[in-house]
Formats: sequence, C-alpha cells, structure tokens
Amino acid sequence: MKWRDLMCGEVRSEQIGKRITLSGWTDTRRDHGGLVFIDLRDRAGVCQLVINPERAPEAFAATHEIRNEFVLRAEGEVVARAPEAVNPKLPTGEIELQVDSLEIVSRCPPLPFQLDEENVDETLRLRNRWLDLRRDRLQKNIALRAQMVGVIRRVIESAGFLDIQTPILGKPTPEGARDFLVPARLQPGRFYALPQSPQLYKQILMIAGFDRYYQIAVCFRDEDLRADRLQELTQLDVEVAFPDLDGLFSLMERMLEAVWRECLGVELEPPFLRMSWDEAMARYGSDKPDLRFALEIEEASEATRGSEFGVFAKVPCVRFLRVPKEYSRGDLAKLEEFAKEWGAGGLAYIVYGEDGEPRSPILKFLSEPELELFRSEPGSTVLFGAGEPAMVARVLGQLRLKLAGELGLIDEDAWRFLWVTDFPMLEWDEETERWDAVHHPFTRPAVGHEALLESDPGAAKALAYDLVGNGVELGGGSFRIYEPDLQQKVFELLRISPEEQRSKFGFLLDALSMGAPPHGGIAFGIERLLMVLGHEQNLRDTQAFPKNQAGADPMTGAPSNADPKNLRELGIKPIAPPT
Ligand code: ASP
Repeated sequence: MKWRDLMCGEVRSEQIGKRITLSGWTDTRRDHGGLVFIDLRDRAGVCQLVINPERAPEAFAATHEIRNEFVLRAEGEVVARAPEAVNPKLPTGEIELQVDSLEIVSRCPPLPFQLDEENVDETLRLRNRWLDLRRDRLQKNIALRAQMVGVIRRVIESAGFLDIQTPILGKPTPEGARDFLVPARLQPGRFYALPQSPQLYKQILMIAGFDRYYQIAVCFRDEDLRADRLQELTQLDVEVAFPDLDGLFSLMERMLEAVWRECLGVELEPPFLRMSWDEAMARYGSDKPDLRFALEIEEASEATRGSEFGVFAKVPCVRFLRVPKEYSRGDLAKLEEFAKEWGAGGLAYIVYGEDGEPRSPILKFLSEPELELFRSEPGSTVLFGAGEPAMVARVLGQLRLKLAGELGLIDEDAWRFLWVTDFPMLEWDEETERWDAVHHPFTRPAVGHEALLESDPGAAKALAYDLVGNGVELGGGSFRIYEPDLQQKVFELLRISPEEQRSKFGFLLDALSMGAPPHGGIAFGIERLLMVLGHEQNLRDTQAFPKNQAGADPMTGAPSNADPKNLRELGIKPIAPPT
C-alpha cells in the first residue's frame, strides 16, 4: 500500500487531473452544506480535501468521526478550485483533492490545547511536546535550525576545519556557571563534570597539532534559568592555531553571511563594525549594543566638573540621553523608579516643551555652557545618569533599550552586527573580594597589557571579543595564553592556589609546557543565533525538547528519582528524601 505520492503541501496546479494519495494530520474539518472540507497537513503544508457524499459515500460517512489531529490517508483526483474559492495565501490554494477513498490511520482524543492557540501554559505545551512541535512556528524553528547548522558546517569545513568530538564526561571547565556532576561508579566518591564548554579540550587539540577544530557541541551549565539562559545549550565551537584576528573575524563573517543568505535570502554587509568595549559601554551602556536605533548616550563628565548642581559636581561620571518625547511628571516618576531598579540614586532630567523652553528642577543650577550642551529639540527630554561609570552605563543603557522599544524607534527589519573587542581582562568581585576572569582564565591579555596585570589588574584589557547581532550576544571568544608561566600568573591573580592549579588544571599546564602554539577561537550559541535569525522570542523554542524554567522536562519527567540500588552502587545516599 502506498501512503503518499506527494507531501500535502507540495500539490500544485500541475497535478490537476491526476489521481494521487496523500497522508497527514487533520488540521481542520469543516461541514459546508453537505460537503466536508478537511485541511490535511504535513511538514510541507496543507492540502484541502473535499469529500462529496455523492462521489464518495463511504469516505463521507467516515468524516463524521474525524477530529483535529487524526491521521488520514486520502486518495482522489486533484481538481482546480472554483475561482471564488482560490486562496492566494496558500501555495496549494489553487487546487483541492476530490476524495474517493479516505482511511482513518490514527485517532486522537480531544486536544489539551489547540495548535493555533496562543499563550498556552508552557508546562502543558512541553508535556505534550509532540503536539506543540506540530505548530507552524516550531516546525519552522526546528527546520531552520537544521538548515542553519548545515550551512555552518559547510562553510567551516570548506575552510579546512576538522569536526572533532570531545568528551561529555569530563573535568570542570570554568565558564562561570555551576557544573552538572555525574557520579563515577567505578571510582566511588568521584565525579565527572559535564562540559560547560569544550574549552580546554579544544586548546589541547591545538597543542596536539590539529590546527583548525570545530564542533557543534552540547554544553551544560547548571544556572538558575532566566529568559536568555539555557542549562543545556549548543555551541558552534571553533579554535585555530597561529591565529590572526582579521582572518578569524572574516571567516565568522563569511559564515554568518552564508547563513543569512541561504536561510533568509538576506545579504549582510561584512566586514562588520568593530567597537571597543569602552566605547560600547560609553555610547550604548552595554557590551551588546543594539545598533538598530540611534538614541546614543552622550558624555557630560567634563562639562559638569565644576557644576553648581552638587550631584553633578561630586560624581566621576555624568552622561545623558536625549529622548525624542516630552515626558510628563508622572512618566518621569516612573522612569526614575526604573532607573533606581538598575542602581541609580535618582533621575535628573530637563524637559523641552513644544515652545523649546527647558523645564527642570535643576535648571537654576546649570551654567550657560552646560545648558548649551544639553539643549535639545522642542518636544524632547534629556535624562541624566550620574555616578560611577559602570552604574551610569548600566542605567542609561537599560533606559535606552526600554525607551526605544516604547517609542517604536527600533527598525525591526534591520540586521546590525558588530564585534565588541578589548574586553576588560578581570572584574572585581565585591562578595569574594577577588578578581574574576571576565571571559575565562585562559584568555590572554591584550598586546602590551601583561605588565598591567601586576600594576593595575582592573585596567588590563583582554584579547577577547564578542559578536553581537541586533543587541544579542551571539558569540564570544579570545586568544589564549600559551605560555605556562603567564597562565600560572593569571591563576595566581585569580587566587587559584598552586595545589588547586595542579589538581584542576595540571594537564593544561603540562600540555602548555610541551610546545604549545599560539591559539585562539570563538564559540557561538546556536540557540541565540537561531533566535535572532528566526525572530524567535522564546529561547527554549529553538530546541525540540527543552527543559522548563525549573530545569525539568515535563514530557519525560526528568529529572527523576534514582533507584536505591543504583545509588548504593554509586556510594551515594541522599541527605534529604527526594520530593
Ligand atoms: N569557551 C568559550 C565560551 O563558551 C568560548 C571561547 O572562548 O571560545 O564562551
């Protein structure tokens, strides 16, 4: 028996007059004055079936039972639709299948949710993921993901990169998250860590002479889930020996160019803009600036140095945003609340009315040159950030994003990519009172910044970069330390004791000591890329089987309780009974 001659979504007017068989899911079923219409659906689309009781009495009888999501097999003749019934929005909209025989292949109970229903509870969706995945949006996401990964592999492989698999059961790699641990039965009391990234393996592969490595690698990070984080994510992971920054950037640009061209038919325009981290923070208040709109942060620290306005005079940094809207007092109070949530003490402002006149409680303190600098178009508002540069950048950066969204300033059709370079090497952790690596501990300092590691570690820049697209961090990487003594020095700065260095990273130090080439690389988040490429809002819907916010899979019930026998074998005793 033949299931189908074509996919449902593939039938066109060329098939008119032909007899064909189609199989698929019941998308909709409509009764119309004696005729029954069924949209039969598969991955390629839908085809309209017409069941006429005179032509096919048995098939017609069968239609009474059919509900949405029943699987059917239909045989009949492709005919042209009457002119008034043509649906120009559907690729199959010119034809329909006049059914002669219809078979119910599989049944389906009333659905827990309709496929076209919006805002369905996520747990319900994930528990019934087989239904959820039949939705158009998810079918598109998953297919787009496969297409994108295919293009990536082709571009990278044609540049001479080898796909090398690295272990899932490994040792902790510090990427800043908690590790997922796996108990080792054969070595009771010991644990493997699932890779947060293949970072150290890929470095070892360079030391081992493989020169150009890539992998579509699954990575595990036991993080508290936020909207833009996953515990189980996929990276395009890349490493090269004897790296040259321009060469690496241009390969990655070619790859993205090919992805956008082949998946969307959009031409990107490499080379992408490059911007230092300092500049991104100053002008956009973010290390992942969204360049689809202007609304740039402006600098006033110099101009306000001797200000009569006490707040401006005593802080190291004053910057401002000129927003093209005349805000009311009520609006400004709300914006101040928002600014405070991001760490501001308050929100000074000047409103320029339609008459062009400035209004502000701080006006009387401002000098002519200050007023000159802030002067803006009638019908606009200047919002100030004053304080430590990091806080000012954060507050104004967040305001910039929020207001651009509210005022509709974002060009939703634009694609704006840039490289953010020269990240700081270290950041001070107030809680633990020590330096943390901004990227990871294997990143090398920028050329000429080695000495700063001793004299002024906070000022040292790293040879690290991110690729940002439409305000999303798509990828990041760095050139690595290949000198064992420099690596040790950085470990010391991070207060990793010599014993810990040996126990955690002894293999890396040994490998670095045996002829390590200079090397560097990058990793892209496949899910983040897909989110941007597919305009998908929900990071989890870029994966076929994601976990929910609580890190659980409502479909399979993972994580589940372990069999006490397994735990005994592993030498593990839960301290709290499982819930
Ligand atoms: N391992 C890094 C990460 O996962 C990327 C890299 O440095 O290549 O972010």
